[in-house]
Formats: sequence, C-alpha cells, structure tokens
Amino acid sequence: MQHILCHYGEIALKKNNRNWFEQALIKNIERQLKDYAPLKAHKLAGRVWIEFAEPHRREAVQPLLKKIFGVVNFIPCERVEAGLDKLKAGVLTALGDYKFDSFAVRAKKCEPQLALGSQEVNEAIGRLVQEKTGSRVDLENPQTTIHIEMFHDRFFFGFEKIAGPGGLPVGVAGSVAGLLSGGIDSPVACLRMMKRGCRVLFVHFHSAPFASEQSLDKTLDLAEYLGSFQGGGLLLAVPFGEIQREIVAKAPEGYRVLLYRRMMLRIAEVLAREYGSMGLVTGESLSQVASQTLSNLASIEQAATLPIFRPLIGMDKVEIVKEAQAFGTYETSIRPHEDCCSFMVPRHPKTQSRAEELERLEANLPVDAWVERGVKETKRHVLQGG
Ligand code: ATP
Ligand code: MG
Repeated sequence: MQHILCHYGEIALKKNNRNWFEQALIKNIERQLKDYAPLKAHKLAGRVWIEFAEPHRREAVQPLLKKIFGVVNFIPCERVEAGLDKLKAGVLTALGDYKFDSFAVRAKKCEPQLALGSQEVNEAIGRLVQEKTGSRVDLENPQTTIHIEMFHDRFFFGFEKIAGPGGLPVGVAGSVAGLLSGGIDSPVACLRMMKRGCRVLFVHFHSAPFASEQSLDKTLDLAEYLGSFQGGGLLLAVPFGEIQREIVAKAPEGYRVLLYRRMMLRIAEVLAREYGSMGLVTGESLSQVASQTLSNLASIEQAATLPIFRPLIGMDKVEIVKEAQAFGTYETSIRPHEDCCSFMVPRHPKTQSRAEELERLEANLPVDAWVERGVKETKRHVLQGG
C-alpha cells in the first residue's frame, strides 16, 4: 500500500459544519481521482488519508491533487505501526541510497493520547538519519525534510510536502453561473469562486453565425480545463451574433457594448435559475476598459436580478495575468482567435451611462423575445473533468 496524507486548513475552523465540509472534500477527492481507482479516502484526525493499491498511482495523482480546492498541502508517505522502533526501521529502508546535504525532521503528534513526544522523535530520527547518510541537520533551510505524522495506532513518514491550492471544497457554497469569454479574466474569476466553494456552470456567448467555430473551440478548451478543478460540469453556449447584429443596427454606437452585456446578463440569469445557480460571475475589474467604469458597471447590472460576483474587481491586469499563469489558464486564454466581428465593436464607447438611458434604448428592442430565443438556442456541452 502507498499513502498520501492531505491537510486542509480553513475547513477545520467551521465548527458546526466541520464534518460536512470534510465529507465534501473526501467526495471531491474520490471523484477527481476516479481514474486511479481503487483508492480509498478516509478522515483521520484532521487529515484526509488516501490509500492506493498500486504504488505508481500515488505519483500519478499528484498533479490532480493540486487542483482540488480545500487541500492546503499533502505528503506522499509510507505507513508503519506505531512506535519508535518500527518508525526507525521504516525510515532506514525508505532512505536506501538517498543522499542529501542537509535535512530536518518534523514530527507531529496528531492525537493527544499518544505517549511519545514529537521532540523525542525528531531527535531519535535525526540521529539515525545523520548516522546513515552523513548529512547535517539544518532546521532553517534543509534540503530535505522528513515529515512524520503520528497517530495512536500508526505512523506515517514522507520526504516531501507539496502545496495544494487551498480554499474550500467545490460545492460547499452552492452553484453560480460564470460568464466565460475566451479572455484572460473570466477563467480566473470562475476559479476564484470555485476556490471559495462554488460549483460553476459556464455560460459562453459566441458570435455565430458571424464568427467561426474557432472561438467556441477555445472557450470549450478553457471550460474543459476549468472543469478539471470541479470534476466536470457544463458549458452552455449561447449564439449571440444575431442579437449583436440587431443591436448594431438599432442602437447608437457608443452604447453597443453596454447593451450586449445587459442582454448577456438577462440570458445568463434565466439559464442560471434553470440549473439552480444562485448568482452570476464575471471577470470585470474596475476601470479596466470603458464598459467597466463604475457608472457602466452599475447600469449594466441593473438588467439582472441575481447577485453579480466580480472577484477581480480590485485587481490590476498584471495581478490577474499572474494568477492566470498560476492556475494554468493563461496559455489557452492568449491563443489567438479569429476576430471577424470588428463591426460590432464601437470606436467610441460611452464611459458614463445611466440605467435609465439604456432602458429607454431597450424600449425599442424585442428584449424578451431575444432572451427567449437565446435560451432556446443554447447548446449544452458536457465537460469531462479529467
Ligand atoms: P475577459 O478577459 O474575461 O474576456 P475582459 O477584460 O475582456 O474579460 P470584457 O470583454 O469587457 O472584459 O467582458 C467583461 C466580462 O463579461 C468578462 O470577464 C466575462 O465575464 C463577460 N463576457 C464578456 N464576453 C463574454 C462572452 N462572449 N461570453 C461570456 N461572457 C462574456
Ligand atoms: Mg473579453
């Protein structure tokens, strides 16, 4: 058997719901590692312990664990029976010819009833490793750290503690609909909501029949990747080109984008309700572009009745790009896609607006019929989550 011990942080603080949060995390781990079955995930004194029947699987799942929100860090490890002698024997065998200049031992007592103290274990294992390898102890900046986690009936030890993404397990906060473009910002916004425990339903508006399928392909790739952080999901693709064309024909140029956004929110909100989502998410960041000035954000959002979450509102572009790189969405987001719809983009967009102005313009547009058509023509793509 091979093992991984996962640590979670914030969940442990939620006193009354703790058990429910832990079960959610275990369920997500089992779902997202399903291709590596048979594995078993158990709760073990404030940790999740994963057992693998086959050794190589423990290595293979590590990239996947880095995508499971709620996991703060994890230690690939070996298990021995409780007691210093068994531990020493286990560590000696595992060390083999492993060489390092410096090391530290960090033992943790995970259950209070254990008689053995962690300092005693640190010293005993430290001496043993020093004798066996000739390396020096360095508690400040060790090349290798030997992590030992002690329970009353078993000890685990491993040579590496790997950072997870932190946050809360996807699903514990409910579901939101993420407006996903092919750009840099909205994928990061969706991931930030996932990290706070939301399952995200992805909604994309594409300019068919005026743009090629390519832009949809790119968003599908992004959605697939985002889905791998939550074990799958759905991308709802709404054909929006016809609505854009009609807005271009019937409304003053400077207001176009604001009217597009209001239509997107209306359609997204119907879809969100249909799928049980409690809010909408966008990648908007204050003053980043003309449509994201304070007054435009305010007059756009009047079109929706669900709450709108904008996790990037206070971030600048450099920060968002950095986060996109860290999450792994950046490379796909910057992939060029054919932009055939330049006639839809105004040269002089309004930077200030009031909701009443936009409502007046919409009084001449078949808004309800557009919403109905958009919802009806929406195509559903099932994400694999792998
Ligand atoms: P992004 O990088 O996410 O495209 P952006 O900075 O380019 O964002 P805008 O194009 O003004 O900003 O869009 C603002 C937000 O509106 C996006 O972050 C996204 O949430 C939503 N949005 C824009 N276009 C679409 C689309 N075609 N489909 C779905 N959502 C969209
Ligand atoms: Mg964009």
